[in-house]
Amino acid sequence: MYKLDQPPLLFESSRPGRATAILPGSDVPDRPLDAIIPASHRAERAPALPELGELDVVRHYTNLSTLNMSIDANFYPLGSCTMKYNPKRNERLAALPGFSAQHPYQDESTLQGLLALLYELQGMLAEIAGLHAVSLQPAAGAQGELTALLVAAAYFRDRGEKRTQVLIPDSAHGTNPASAHLAGFEAVTIKSNAQGLVDLDDFRAKLGDQPAVFMMTNPNTLGLFDPQIGTIAGLLHERGGLLYLDGANMNAILGVVRPGDMGVDLMHYNPHKTFSGPHGGGGPGAGPIAVRDHLAAYLPAPIVARNDDGSYRLDHDRPKSIGRVRSFFGNTGVLFRAYCYIRSQGPDGLKDIARHAVLNANYLMQLVKDVYPVQYPGRCMHEFVASARTIARERGIRAMDIAKRLIDYNFHSPTVYFPLIVPEAIMVEPTETESRETIEAFARVLRAIAEEDPASLHDAPHTTPISRPDEVKAAKSPVLRWRATPTATS
Ligand SMILES: *Cc1c(COP(=O)(O)O)cnc(C)c1O
Repeated sequence: MYKLDQPPLLFESSRPGRATAILPGSDVPDRPLDAIIPASHRAERAPALPELGELDVVRHYTNLSTLNMSIDANFYPLGSCTMKYNPKRNERLAALPGFSAQHPYQDESTLQGLLALLYELQGMLAEIAGLHAVSLQPAAGAQGELTALLVAAAYFRDRGEKRTQVLIPDSAHGTNPASAHLAGFEAVTIKSNAQGLVDLDDFRAKLGDQPAVFMMTNPNTLGLFDPQIGTIAGLLHERGGLLYLDGANMNAILGVVRPGDMGVDLMHYNPHKTFSGPHGGGGPGAGPIAVRDHLAAYLPAPIVARNDDGSYRLDHDRPKSIGRVRSFFGNTGVLFRAYCYIRSQGPDGLKDIARHAVLNANYLMQLVKDVYPVQYPGRCMHEFVASARTIARERGIRAMDIAKRLIDYNFHSPTVYFPLIVPEAIMVEPTETESRETIEAFARVLRAIAEEDPASLHDAPHTTPISRPDEVKAAKSPVLRWRATPTATS
């Protein structure tokens, strides 16, 4: 449904001959085109680019940018995504030409600053994990999961063990079973109990003699810390299995608990969540993994190593390595920001992040839980999962209606309908960077929406150019490219 005027595409605003660039004439003697690019390498026609004045282009993009929600403009309580403030300092530092203008094919001797930084980051991530070795290569959390499972598979193969099953709680992020499957394992679902934690009976029943890996998210996606992790680690280790931690959201335990101390053998981080990297619109992330010493040999090569003379090198001499999972050094831009963030916080700052993330989530939960019941009550960690099931039953207002209506109030929607084990789930993660006033304003609006006329909520938002896009069509047949003649699918 179209509401406001749709801004025209640049192609539609194009007028023949309108131009932006004012370039001086070439002072290089003309050479025949064939001498520069052979005809066989040239397209028949020049590409059909839009022709526009500079002001048209500036206005177009500036106006488009105001249609977006962003951390810099809106509260963004998207559960599990940790949309916290991205400090501008980190952006400035990551853009320093000494880092951003490096070329990956440069000689190692000219990359010493970059390598020093990556080496230190490996050390910091190992320390926070309470584990021994780190690979910075994976390009996203999901790739970190896959990489860690490939490391586990290589470890078992090396020991001559045939282990095929990866156990995953039903509250896990969808990437967990996908990664297990891609790594060649069978994904086995473990039920959650009435408290929203791992059902130990189900875990014991499905453990078998030869479990490969248990993938645990702790705190889990319900925002609950599972105190059974020690028992779980013990049961696994007795049978030679490995405990994996999905550490995408480390906010709640950062600097307070080390996964290695809880029995975790391998884990991934999401620097674009926990360590404040920007990650709207599916932009680049990273998924560094940390592992216990007996798994270090299998990490992707190369690893940044330090020479005796204090210089750094890329260590490719790793015969048991699973090989590369990403070109060059990984997404260094994201890794720099994580480095800047960790260094600027320091050990005490990291602990404060955890305390404030937990405080903010609990405060917000208390402000709304009488209207939006929380299925697994008790103290939450960095996020909580409320439910719209009462107002859905009594007033016909669903989680999706609430999520959409929040946009009219300039709030980004929380995550809805996830985790799957909570009906009408509304998963809220305020993050530690929000003020008390923002959290209270959000709670007021959330409560007010529950009182609104259900009929008008079903076609909210009312203030955006498009009210409710067809999400299935947008996901299954997106039209991402302008064509002069629309194709069948568009
Ligand atoms: C975000 C997230 C992931 C996946 O991370 P990506 O960087 O999006 O691939 C995995 N697990 C949990 C719990 C997450 O929140």
